[in-house]
Amino acid sequence: MNVQTQIDTTSPRTTEHFDVLIAGAGISGVGAAYHLTTQCPGTSFVALEAQKTFGGTWTTHRYPGIRSDSDLHTFGYRFKPWTSAPIASAAEILKYMGDVIEENDLASHIRYQHTITSAKWSSEENLWTIEATRTDTGEKRRFTTNFFWMCQGYYRHTEGYTPEWQDMAKFKGRIVHPQKWPEDLDYNNKRVIVIGSGATAATLIPAMAADCAHVTMLQRSPTYFRTGRNAIEIAEELRKLQVDEKWIHEITRRKILFEQDAFTRKTFAEPEAAKKDLLSAVEAYLGKDYDIATHFTPKYRPWRQRIAFIPDGDLFQGIKSGKASVVTDEIDRFTEKGILLKSGKELEADIIVTATGFNLSANGDIEFAVDGKPLDFADSVTYRGMMFTGVPNLVWVFGYFRASWTLRVDLVADFVCRLLTHMKATGAKKVTPELRPEDHNMPLLPWIDPENFNPGYMMRGMHLLPKRGDKPEWQHNQDYWAEKDEFPNIDLKDKAFVYG
Ligand SMILES: Cc1cc2nc3c(=O)[nH]c(=O)nc-3n(C[C@H](O)[C@H](O)[C@H](O)COP(=O)(O)OP(=O)(O)OC[C@H]3O[C@@H](n4cnc5c(N)ncnc54)[C@H](O)[C@@H]3O)c2cc1C
Repeated sequence: MNVQTQIDTTSPRTTEHFDVLIAGAGISGVGAAYHLTTQCPGTSFVALEAQKTFGGTWTTHRYPGIRSDSDLHTFGYRFKPWTSAPIASAAEILKYMGDVIEENDLASHIRYQHTITSAKWSSEENLWTIEATRTDTGEKRRFTTNFFWMCQGYYRHTEGYTPEWQDMAKFKGRIVHPQKWPEDLDYNNKRVIVIGSGATAATLIPAMAADCAHVTMLQRSPTYFRTGRNAIEIAEELRKLQVDEKWIHEITRRKILFEQDAFTRKTFAEPEAAKKDLLSAVEAYLGKDYDIATHFTPKYRPWRQRIAFIPDGDLFQGIKSGKASVVTDEIDRFTEKGILLKSGKELEADIIVTATGFNLSANGDIEFAVDGKPLDFADSVTYRGMMFTGVPNLVWVFGYFRASWTLRVDLVADFVCRLLTHMKATGAKKVTPELRPEDHNMPLLPWIDPENFNPGYMMRGMHLLPKRGDKPEWQHNQDYWAEKDEFPNIDLKDKAFVYG
């Protein structure tokens, strides 16, 4: 680390330099830090995190029952075995991440309560200048770095997305967004409406059902869910045989990934059969008399939106017990007592939870500029969903929708470490992805094809995201099974990488 005094006397007064600067200390940022220490020893780096502690998503969200919706063998890192039940609570995930930080001595590399506000690239110096504000003192801090590794996730942590419904202000009870769960919220014996049908609603409802008078899941349209035991047989078997946890982790990962691959392919090749598999699992919990057609049968093909896993069918058990119910209808407006539906029915409530999603934030709300020119990522084309044309020495970690996010954290980290090692060996100071001559007539399309995947936050924010091309190099193909083989073989001498 090299601290130098600035000539100007305005705050910030000092600039610290690091070879690599990581934005965020969620599962991506901590993973990036681990890989840098192990694959690029001797590289100086810092991770700046806006919040008071690590964890990202798992620190921000504090609603009842908060848990993963994918298994931790694959949501966990490939290098650190997961040894408990596959669906994990936020507390368990934070403990796991804390262990990674402690075991690898990463704490001294992370600065908390540092919100990055701007990132400016200078081609003259081949450096990013990053400015951050300390959230506790308001103090401005300045850093320079050769390489900016964006691990700031994909949504705004400070506030969730709540649509504007008519007459919301008239409602006499409390309206709560799960991203800002009030510590003092008492829902004991209260009537609760949860608006939404995604993973958050599906987690909240069983967690609250026992204590509430009643909880209603109000959805405009249904969602697919997968359900089953919160256990993985092969892991249990291997554990009985006292197989080393490292092996269990790897074997279980392979088994899960093999099965997920087969299921994903089935959703494309035989969507009706895949749909039947999902719906019959729901029917096994709710019985034949339950109106699964209305409440749990989406109109879209499975996997066009994320499919949450419901461990031990707890959502369905809550419905079966009568403590929870589902209403599929549209909101006309809020009333003093609750919500008036388009069907004319009024749902009464003491608390309304708007589990209506996120605000996409592709750049961590950081003001970017390249050589004095403001940077709009939407004007760039993505290199494999992690780098951007015209933007030097920058990588963004954007995980998978249909597989665990962290699988890509590890893959991108291998790539970055290989790239940094290559640049060091060749003396390159910068690398900028650029379209090759053969790419110039390539059609430029939105970041993701809505026919392929279309969650609300993506559709609302697509205009903010970089463009994709129609070749594998110029898109985030959302296919872990292809990328796990492609990424290690990315040719760093390809003309798509312009070095300087
Ligand atoms: C409730 C919930 C459950 C989920 N469950 C799963 C799951 O089971 N499986 C799965 O694969 N995915 C899941 N996801 C998606 C999940 O967000 C990602 O998988 C993963 O946690 C993202 O990790 P990340 O580190 O990239 O980003 P985040 O977890 O979003 O962390 C980013 C961090 O960067 C910080 N940051 C942002 N901007 C700045 C800035 N300007 N300056 C400094 N710091 C900044 C934030 O404070 C945050 O701590 C879930 C998401 C939610 C909301």
